[in-house]
Formats: sequence, structure tokens, C-alpha cells
Amino acid sequence: MTKLTMLGSGHAMVTKCYNTCFVIQNEEGAVLVDAGGGNGILSQMEQAGISWESLQAMFLTHAHTDHILGGIWVLRKINVLMKQGKFQGNFTVYGLQAGLSFLEKSCEFLLKDPLNDKIHFVAVENEDEFSVIKIQFRVFDIHSTKMPQIGFRAEFTKGWKEPFEKISLACMGDEPYHETCLKYVENADWLLSEAFCLSKDKDIFKPYEKHHSTALDAGKIAHKLKVSHLIMYHTEDSDLENREKNYRKEAAKNFDGDIYVPRDLETILLG
Ligand SMILES: [Zn+2]
Repeated sequence: MTKLTMLGSGHAMVTKCYNTCFVIQNEEGAVLVDAGGGNGILSQMEQAGISWESLQAMFLTHAHTDHILGGIWVLRKINVLMKQGKFQGNFTVYGLQAGLSFLEKSCEFLLKDPLNDKIHFVAVENEDEFSVIKIQFRVFDIHSTKMPQIGFRAEFTKGWKEPFEKISLACMGDEPYHETCLKYVENADWLLSEAFCLSKDKDIFKPYEKHHSTALDAGKIAHKLKVSHLIMYHTEDSDLENREKNYRKEAAKNFDGDIYVPRDLETILLG
């Protein structure tokens, strides 16, 4: 059983929820994707009931504050657990070289203890592949117009008996779909897409100026790329109470698959 827990669902400047980051978990362990912008990651992990010891890796999409700064707290926490002998095995951080260098230097500068040598930094780029918790990750460049950013297509099997069913999940980071990503996203069972705001509110939140898009756009892409389930995140937080209903309604104008707009700490069963 593989599941995804949305630790944070908001964009960089939200105040009513945490910045976008999530955990993918199965019987083998857990992988954190981005870490949000601060030590809120500690409470989100705790409230989600995800043990630090189960975490084997962190994947960083890009080096913006709302995605990478929480990574310093993650490494601080894991470093302490390793020192106390409470974290077995290795912990690997995957990301673009620039982001990893920033994170490593920040830890060196800010943390009291040097990082344990069981914490590894592995630079990845377009087309690279790696495997963690029996999930195969294929990295792709999302062709950001702001700063280099990567997404991934993750593939894993469902169940423990043959014939195994293959499940795929595509994560496009926090920017809109770019045509060059077609082969990584097309026909994915699950698509994680940013949706900065509702299309009807675009004059208020101005998503395109910020290189983001709307729930309506996410629905169009999900339909065009024939995915089965769409998960929207990285949203504004002006009306969290009605966010799910409203975003779902807009995306459903063009997409007839399953639509999720998870709240912080909500878990989705992937397969
Ligand atoms: Zn962001």
C-alpha cells in the first residue's frame, strides 16, 4: 500500500496552512518531497504521525524559500536522531546541485553539529533515475521560467501478489505544465499539479504574473494528458473551508477523472 500525505498545501506566502510539501509512504519507508519554508515541517510531521525514522530520503524540486528552508530543519532533526542512535541507516537528499550546495552550506553555517556522514547529498538532473522505498523515480526538468526546477515520475507496484499492477505518479513541482514534460506526465495514474487560485479569481491573485496557473488550467492539462487522478496543491489560502469544493468544480469543467484538493495533513491512498 502506497500513500501520499500532504503536509502542506499552500503557496509561499500562506498564513492559514503550510507551504507545499508531502510524504510518499509504503511498507518500506517514506520519502519527503520538499520541506516547506521553516520549522513548521516539524509539527506537520508530528501531526501527520509520520516517524522520522521511517524517512529515507528528501527530494527537493527547487531552491525557493517555501520549498527548501524547511530542509534545514529536517536535516537538523535527522542529524540529532543519528547522534542519539535513534536513526538507523542512511538519509539521502536528492535535488539539483545548486540547491543541495545551498542546503549543505546553510547547515554548515547554522547548525551546531556537523552533519553525520550517513546524510548524503545526491545531485540529479533531467532523465536521472533512482530508487527509494522500492519506488522508481525518474527526474525531469520542468522548464521553469524562474529558476531551475525538477519534477519526477514515480512508478511502483500495487499489491504483493502477481500480477502486479503498475502505478505512476507525476509531480510537476510548483509551476504549470510545459510541453517538454509530455512523456513524463502523459497517462500517469496520478498527477500532482499546482493551482495557485481559481480562474474566476485570477484578477485578484494574478497567477500568470507569478508563473503559476489556475484550477481550471490544471483540469485542462489533466484531461489533455489523460491522467486518472488529479491532485492540486500550492494554492492561495483565502477560503480554505470551501477550497476543495470550488477548485474541484473548476477543474471538473474539463477533466472527468478523480480530483483531489487535499487539506494539510490529509492522506490519499495511491494504490
Ligand atoms: Zn512554491
